Amino acid sequence: MTQARKLAAGNWKMNGTRAALAELEALARAHPNPSVGILICPPATLIQTASAAMADTPVEIGGQDCHAEPSGTHTGDISAEMLVDAGATSVILGHSERREDHEESSEDVRAKAKAAQAVGLVTIICLGESLAQREANNTLDIIGGQLAASLPDSCCATNTVVAYEPIWAIGTGKVPTTAQIDEVHDFIRTRLIQRFGEAEGGGIPLLYGGSVKPGNAAEIFATDNVDGALVGGASLKAEDFSPIITALE
Ligand code: PGA
Repeated sequence: MTQARKLAAGNWKMNGTRAALAELEALARAHPNPSVGILICPPATLIQTASAAMADTPVEIGGQDCHAEPSGTHTGDISAEMLVDAGATSVILGHSERREDHEESSEDVRAKAKAAQAVGLVTIICLGESLAQREANNTLDIIGGQLAASLPDSCCATNTVVAYEPIWAIGTGKVPTTAQIDEVHDFIRTRLIQRFGEAEGGGIPLLYGGSVKPGNAAEIFATDNVDGALVGGASLKAEDFSPIITALE
């Protein structure tokens, strides 16, 4: 199987003003020559300044969402092309907070992913089950359904990353067992290979997300088919995110 590339991705969510750029500088100083990809997705207001500040470093900058249309009457939204213009290389799509707060369906996510990939962005597509769905033993059904509907046919190993983020683990300090992570990642990998073939489906990086911290990162990264992490709270400070990057290297 193709070896998927490794990625440590940070999702700042609705946190950070220009003062937070100091954390990026510290991160870049701590990892001048990393053997894994480093991506930070700050709020949209910081993308341009952050990407300019990180231009000569290995730290890449991404968005947290984009619209499916290239332009138009969509107050408050930003297009994929605008993200590229601001210096983003990637975009998170279908995060559970967007699926919930903005009622985004997997079909919406797929349309956004198509638009983002068409302008050269790497799409980090998020999937995850609720606690009720896990307790009802529906996890793999839910993940399989989200995976099939959220990924456009244009996905390949170089333009797509899939993040498995159980909703009950996000920001809660609760982390699935490595056996639970292994089960879901193995399932996702099998489905990706069935749909996109060995080279492409096998090469799409699979991130785990949900309460990843310096203290649990190494154990999570030792799990089969875990190629990195999508990190929320612990990506806000370089002193927390840096050991997570090191654990992945
Ligand atoms: P968390 O968030 O690391 O704060 O749990 C993860 C995410 O939502 O991507």
